[in-house]
Amino acid sequence: MLEHHEEIAAVILEPIVQGAGGMWFYHPQYLRCVRELCDEYGLLLILDEIATGFGRTGKLFASEHAEISPDIMCVGKAISGGYMSFAATLTTDQVAQTISHGGAGAFMHGPTFMANALTSAVSLSNIALLHSWPWQEKIKTMEEQMKAELSPCEEYQGVADVRVLGAIAVVELDSAIDLKRITPEFVNQGVWIRPFGKLIYIMPPYIINKEDLSMLTGSICNVVSRIKEFLH
Ligand SMILES: *Cc1c(COP(=O)(O)O)cnc(C)c1O
Repeated sequence: MLEHHEEIAAVILEPIVQGAGGMWFYHPQYLRCVRELCDEYGLLLILDEIATGFGRTGKLFASEHAEISPDIMCVGKAISGGYMSFAATLTTDQVAQTISHGGAGAFMHGPTFMANALTSAVSLSNIALLHSWPWQEKIKTMEEQMKAELSPCEEYQGVADVRVLGAIAVVELDSAIDLKRITPEFVNQGVWIRPFGKLIYIMPPYIINKEDLSMLTGSICNVVSRIKEFLH
């Protein structure tokens, strides 16, 4: 940033959990430092909370692990509980006012179904439902159960790492999985799990019961215990 802040408008990050980039979890201190640097150099911090938002990491938003807030935040997915497709971009007043008072043409996006009333109502109900419910406790319970039930995987050959945060569990292997071979195996065990690359991961719905969650972790342990059959 010291060298390039004159050319940079904003920094965009997935807070705490990097999704498609490898399902990495990183330390909140990193986010705090990025926030400080953005403030120091007058850059906007954009956080993509589409995967992490609405409780997934154990906090309502992952940025809360670092006790910071972004200038722009992207949310989607769990905002509607998956019932309807929906996404939103939230900004500070300063960013919103700057866009509103900017020249015509800038940020003039007008999707056909923008501000869809039905989807907005569904999402508001979904958020109210989440808040009406002890979601923190449920996610803690899921986290503990997934940690306990996936821990045998740490001992299996070919496993690089097992990591769990909130309602996200990841088993990282040493090499990439052959989807054509592993998918029918999961289906035969009654679950739909879609690994990518070296990663087998689950982000189950918060309403999952203990038995169903055990079915997911059990099938992962089963497959990982004989992972050689499913590698390229
Ligand atoms: C799914 C996902 C997106 C894409 O969201 P859409 O609402 O489908 O455009 C972007 N970022 C992250 C981190 C996601 O998980």
